[in-house]
Amino acid sequence: MPKITFLGAARTVTGSKYLLEAEGKKLLVDCGLFEGSKELKQRNWEGLGVDSSTIDWVLLTHAHIDHAGYLPRLVRDGFRGPIYSNAATHELCALLLPDSAHLQEEDAEFAAKKGYSVHKPPLPLYTLPEAKAALERFRVIARAESFTISPQFSVRPHDAGHILGSSWLELTITENNKQTVVVFSGDVGRYNQPILKDPESPTRADFLLCESTYGDRDHPTGSVEDELADIVNRTAKRGGALVIPAFTVGRTQLLMFYLRKLEEQQRIPRLPVFVDSPMAINVTALYVSHHEDHDADFSALEKTGNRDPLNCHEVHMTRTVEESKQINDVVTPCIIISASGMITGGRIKHHLARRLPDARNTVLLVGYQAEGSGGRLLLDGVKYLSIHHEQIPVRAEIVEIGQLSAHAGKSELLRWLSGMQMEPRQTFLVHGEPHALDSFRSSVTAQYHWPVMIPDYRQSFDLGN
Ligand SMILES: [Zn+2]
Repeated sequence: MPKITFLGAARTVTGSKYLLEAEGKKLLVDCGLFEGSKELKQRNWEGLGVDSSTIDWVLLTHAHIDHAGYLPRLVRDGFRGPIYSNAATHELCALLLPDSAHLQEEDAEFAAKKGYSVHKPPLPLYTLPEAKAALERFRVIARAESFTISPQFSVRPHDAGHILGSSWLELTITENNKQTVVVFSGDVGRYNQPILKDPESPTRADFLLCESTYGDRDHPTGSVEDELADIVNRTAKRGGALVIPAFTVGRTQLLMFYLRKLEEQQRIPRLPVFVDSPMAINVTALYVSHHEDHDADFSALEKTGNRDPLNCHEVHMTRTVEESKQINDVVTPCIIISASGMITGGRIKHHLARRLPDARNTVLLVGYQAEGSGGRLLLDGVKYLSIHHEQIPVRAEIVEIGQLSAHAGKSELLRWLSGMQMEPRQTFLVHGEPHALDSFRSSVTAQYHWPVMIPDYRQSFDLGN
């Protein structure tokens, strides 16, 4: 009987990894890093609990690090099969995995300098050559066509509308001539957003895994453009800097899209915008080049030819650490966009150490902030934020625009499920924190009356009758 084991994103939002077994073969769907609290990150060091060399294939929903960032470690630990993804996901991983390795190496170096690592000497989770070795195992599959992995597994990807290349997967498992369909939501995106197409809905599944990041709430419905314009204008009036921790993939492009639009409409001044991410230029280029992901409005805008909708007028892309440090010297109003979006690492930490103590500045949070992350602490109103083991006073204004989330809110998740023409035998809620999972289980049960379960970390289930 086929089997599934939840190796991550079980009662938490990171570390997505689902192991499928059929006829002695093993397929891993997603291979994400755990992020956030120390306890969660520790799981990255504990191994899968399954010998990596016994896994035959990996299949990805999308390129985010919490869905693909464990791949270099998997390969280092003995995985030798192909990693299947579409072209955009592969190209994004080619930027994100080396960057993740770099961050791991930096963290280890920093820990060595400060002497606070549990490893002596401190080690990175994986290195740049290990990230490159993982990239060599990628095999590109079509954006939205059925693909046969083996006699046991075939997959059809569908648009998920979350980031460039993001898919939900309709996996057909064949064992003893009997077929079982398992749907993996990956991360479900938003409806009616600029740039990307809306998520498609699944119509059939014997077993359904649904993400629940925002299972307990809806995003605010106010106008992003109005709120963003207000924030930019009042920060500029104070003579301050607007610092936006944003993931390089997706949020940065969406922010630039809105800022550019507001500049064109003369609703905000043309401030210098520093995109302090060596990757951002490349990621933005991928967003432009993958037409298959664009919605009709964005395609139409691009066809006008005389606009650069994903760049502000005065944009500075900084690649080197030296250029990044120079942003510290900017004392006139400006906008700084830098990763990571949850303030769990990256250059944003240096910018916050510089800008948080000044009440003229604003920190704008635009995405999901996991428990234990710096972003969540700021939203919770901490008076000091620990950055590189220093207590930085928080005097800057802290604001959030929930509408800029890349994740479907509760009603959008329920809408995504509404396409189902049959009742799944079991729905597993994953990729959510405990409260969101419990709340979303009540909503799904109330609206659809399906059997719904919340699996535990490393729990297994038979996918039989
Ligand atoms: Zn994601």
